[in-house]
Amino acid sequence: MFKSLHMKLMLIMLLLITSLMATVGAFLTTNVASFYIDGFFEQMNDMFGSTSEADGVATAKNASFMADLLAAADAPEGATQMQKILEANAGSLGIDYRSRNYYVLDGASGAVLAESGESGGVLASTPNLIKALNGDVGDRSDLTEDYMDVAIPISGEEGRYIIYILDNRDTVSNLNSQLFTIIMQALVIGLLISVLFSYLLSKTLVGPIEKVTEGAERLAGGDFGNKLPVESPDEIGILTGTFNHMADVLQDSLNAVENERNKLDTLFLHMTDGVAAFDHDGKLIHCNPAATVLLQRSVPKEAVYDELFGSIYPLEQILALQRPNYADTEMVVGEKTLEAYFAPFSDRASGGVLVVLHDETEHHRSEERRKEFVANVSHELRTPLTNVRSYAETLRDSGGDIPRDTADNFLDIIINETDRMTHIVQDLLTLSRLDAGNTEMSCARFDFGSAIASVVRANALEAQHRGHALKLELAQTLPIIEGDRQRLEQVMMNILGNAIKYTPDGGRILVTAGTTEGHVWMEVADNGIGIPEKDREHVFERFYRVDKARSRESGGTGLGLSIAKEIVERHQGTIRLTRHEGPGTTVRLTLPLRQTRWEA
Ligand code: ADP
Repeated sequence: MFKSLHMKLMLIMLLLITSLMATVGAFLTTNVASFYIDGFFEQMNDMFGSTSEADGVATAKNASFMADLLAAADAPEGATQMQKILEANAGSLGIDYRSRNYYVLDGASGAVLAESGESGGVLASTPNLIKALNGDVGDRSDLTEDYMDVAIPISGEEGRYIIYILDNRDTVSNLNSQLFTIIMQALVIGLLISVLFSYLLSKTLVGPIEKVTEGAERLAGGDFGNKLPVESPDEIGILTGTFNHMADVLQDSLNAVENERNKLDTLFLHMTDGVAAFDHDGKLIHCNPAATVLLQRSVPKEAVYDELFGSIYPLEQILALQRPNYADTEMVVGEKTLEAYFAPFSDRASGGVLVVLHDETEHHRSEERRKEFVANVSHELRTPLTNVRSYAETLRDSGGDIPRDTADNFLDIIINETDRMTHIVQDLLTLSRLDAGNTEMSCARFDFGSAIASVVRANALEAQHRGHALKLELAQTLPIIEGDRQRLEQVMMNILGNAIKYTPDGGRILVTAGTTEGHVWMEVADNGIGIPEKDREHVFERFYRVDKARSRESGGTGLGLSIAKEIVERHQGTIRLTRHEGPGTTVRLTLPLRQTRWEA
């Protein structure tokens, strides 16, 4: 009920006012009563003097008053005399005939002889009265009684009397009840004022605190836009200022965190490695597009670790790893080979597992290609070397018994095989230079048409020798292009040389050339043995030959087209087999007119 600061403040004010009023009231009533009682006895003392003497010898200030009373006691009708004296001094004695009255009593019996009140002759025997009846002054004050009295014995010649003054304390009771009413009224007004004050106070004190609270709630909701106004330089003002500063710092920190998160999101989104994060229960937290591509499946938000990787490493096993330890393994998904890394992040209670997938397929393939290449090279070199050795041994072991023409034949074979090895080594050197990127290409402008013509001329004799009909058809005048003429002529020589080689004698070979948008092209078409469908995509690979025996017979190394491809690609051109009707092969070379970039 009193949870709000408003209510608490109001309650404190009410309690304060009530307790203040109660204290004041208690003090006032007690003090008023004792003041009244003290006043009574002082007044009596002033009038009757030190009342200790029983014989009534006056020592009072008002000595004549006492003397008159003593004189009256000596006279007959003393009680009436005394009444007159008391009436005459009623003011000084404080007789008001209501609450305070005087009585003249018979000193021996205590009977009322004269009085200002209407006691009906019956008076309660108070201790003071009893004392006076015994001849002593009765002036003892008793705060616990609801009356106060003094009884003065006066003895004269005509008799013994007691002057008895009785105050029933009505005045002080009335005063107290009036005081009580006033205090109650003051209390009510005080309470009203305190309610008003507590309202104003709470408005002044609690208002700014409420604003800070609202600001904190807005902040918690992510609204950093509104600053709290600092309205006063007091503690609340300082609190508001500090709060604003805290909001600024928090916003800066959140912005920094947001930036970092954006950076990470962008990184995850565009990185080629797959990343998937799971919480410690195995629920998916994050999975980037690369992961879905590498896993070759969709990864829904509700996917769990066990479903994706549970068969490789159990989640518990990864969570139990101590950072920076991790587990890794190779996975085969479809045709891809993936390297998967599993690492725990953060602690066991609130952390999880991060899985990184790296595509190793290309690396595997190139590793295989490299092995295959090395095996090919060894094989290609071993064959001629074996031939050279065996023929050389035969010549040596014959001891000159071998006929001359046979020996010459052997020596020709040795020379051919050596040339072959030289070709292979030269081609390998060219390829390795092209691979290393340190082959100098001397780029210059040259006439594409004249380059083709010179290549055709160089092969004309060989074509004629094999009975081929070699024709060059240029539809238009060919433009000047940029490139390494010598290397490009080497490419053309290879294409044309292959057409001559792989076409049975008496074939037809047609060389055509032309331009398309920004490019020149050259095509060499033959009607030779052709290339089977299954081999078409492989003929540009190193050492790939459709018919190894035929290739070797014709002095081929299986490297010509792969070197041609490398050179053409350096010129940002293409070389490919085109489809056409009928038997034979057509190879098309396309080159840009200008080199936009030059690769060494
Ligand atoms: P090679 O030195 O064996 O000629 P290439 O790299 O120049 O090596 O050619 C690769 C293979 O492609 C050849 O071995 C041959 O089988 C095939 N080939 C190339 N050109 C032709 C063609 N015009 N007709 C038929 N087969 C060809």
